[in-house]
Amino acid sequence: MDNPERARILLRMEHRSDILIVGGGLNGPALALALAQTGHSVTVVDALAEKMRKNAAFDGRAYALALASHRLLDAIGVWPQLADHAQPMLEIKVTDGHAGTGPSPFFMHFDHAEIEEGPMGYMVEDRHLRRAFLDAMANEPAITRLDGKRVIAQAVSTTGVTLTLDDSSRLEGSVLVGCDGRRSGTAERAGIRRTGWDYGQTALVCAIEHELPHHGIAHQFFMPPGPLAILPLTGNRSSIVWSESTEAAQRINALPEAEYLQVLRPRFGNFLGDIRLQGDRFTYPLSLTIANAFIADRIALVGDAAHGMHPIAGQGLNAGLRDVGALAEVLTLAGRRGEEIGSTLVLERYQEWRRFDTAALAMATDVFNKLFSNDNPLLRMGRDIGMGIVGSLPGLRRGFVREAAGLTGDLPRLLQGRAI
Ligand SMILES: Cc1cc2nc3c(=O)[nH]c(=O)nc-3n(C[C@H](O)[C@H](O)[C@H](O)COP(=O)(O)OP(=O)(O)OC[C@H]3O[C@@H](n4cnc5c(N)ncnc54)[C@H](O)[C@@H]3O)c2cc1C
Repeated sequence: MDNPERARILLRMEHRSDILIVGGGLNGPALALALAQTGHSVTVVDALAEKMRKNAAFDGRAYALALASHRLLDAIGVWPQLADHAQPMLEIKVTDGHAGTGPSPFFMHFDHAEIEEGPMGYMVEDRHLRRAFLDAMANEPAITRLDGKRVIAQAVSTTGVTLTLDDSSRLEGSVLVGCDGRRSGTAERAGIRRTGWDYGQTALVCAIEHELPHHGIAHQFFMPPGPLAILPLTGNRSSIVWSESTEAAQRINALPEAEYLQVLRPRFGNFLGDIRLQGDRFTYPLSLTIANAFIADRIALVGDAAHGMHPIAGQGLNAGLRDVGALAEVLTLAGRRGEEIGSTLVLERYQEWRRFDTAALAMATDVFNKLFSNDNPLLRMGRDIGMGIVGSLPGLRRGFVREAAGLTGDLPRLLQGRAI
């Protein structure tokens, strides 16, 4: 029986599974696969229809996935479908710059050759990642997907959780996981408050085709209005994530293509030769939003629902996949020990594992953005000296490479490439 038919039949009755996941974006499917593979029945609800999520055309969005995230995707069986579309990130160059004046002489250069594990990570296009997740879930009998259905209410009792969908059907489960993004309704309905602020910056996102090869090198230029990242995609293509003040970003995004490129070009010079746009252009208003708690009774938050951060270091999804690895491990090991997986005692282990780490990462991206999105000459001198020091000390440099590869800290098993 195909998934839509199964979903239709299940919805006519009250449907029960071990884990209910709200949000089938990126972290939701990863968690569903990890939990299904350790013997849990999982239901994933997403407000968007499958055809809107399974967009085959290239639309310019892509993610820098750290090596540890790649290991998790491999462990849950998604990587084989992505491998041919993934661009290894071999080097990262970080430079201070001004539009038109070229990079400062001080820069940091991180090379994957400084670690034994392999590339620091991979660039993967959004369209390939979403398709791989949807295909992998369709092949997993323990996962039920309800697409085009919005969760409108949740109720927690001593025995379980009940979700109500916008077609009035109800789902029952032992644990509810909110993977429903920065404006998580799961968190709001559970009374979890958030801390955060608006950066007054907007990210302009697009992909470019260029004349010269990128050699697998990612570039981060720090400009006074905000950072500009040039991230290598397969072929002679790169993904651009470029932050400007919201007012400037709106003005630039409204420009015709040729003028948009005229604004972009002097920001990073001509080391890639001639450039032209490929696919659509996007804008994302940037803000920081961290849930004050990652759990409530029978509820856990994962990914952007728990922490939405500045894309300055491309860490949002990587942090979400660490949550996925940690929660899947905590629930699976608890179940094997005969513990009640929805108990506060079990969910607290997940919160303890992830909350401090993520809050520290989100604050680091915040400080970094404030320090670098600034033209104060003293700060500029300070950060240039700082970059010179990091760049000249091999031990420190290697530490940064391991950090970029996501290999530091208390890694869940799936991110170490081990089964749970
Ligand atoms: C400009 C930019 C560049 C980035 N680059 C990188 C990068 O290079 N590397 C990286 O690691 N991260 C990056 N990120 C971060 C990354 O995009 C996010 O961390 C990631 O998309 C979050 O995924 P998610 O699954 O948690 O949430 P989302 O992708 O927001 O998914 C939430 C899902 O929940 C569904 N939903 C919401 N409410 C309901 C409801 N009531 N009922 C049913 N369904 C519901 C929505 O339809 C949606 O599909 C970037 C972010 C930005 C803005």
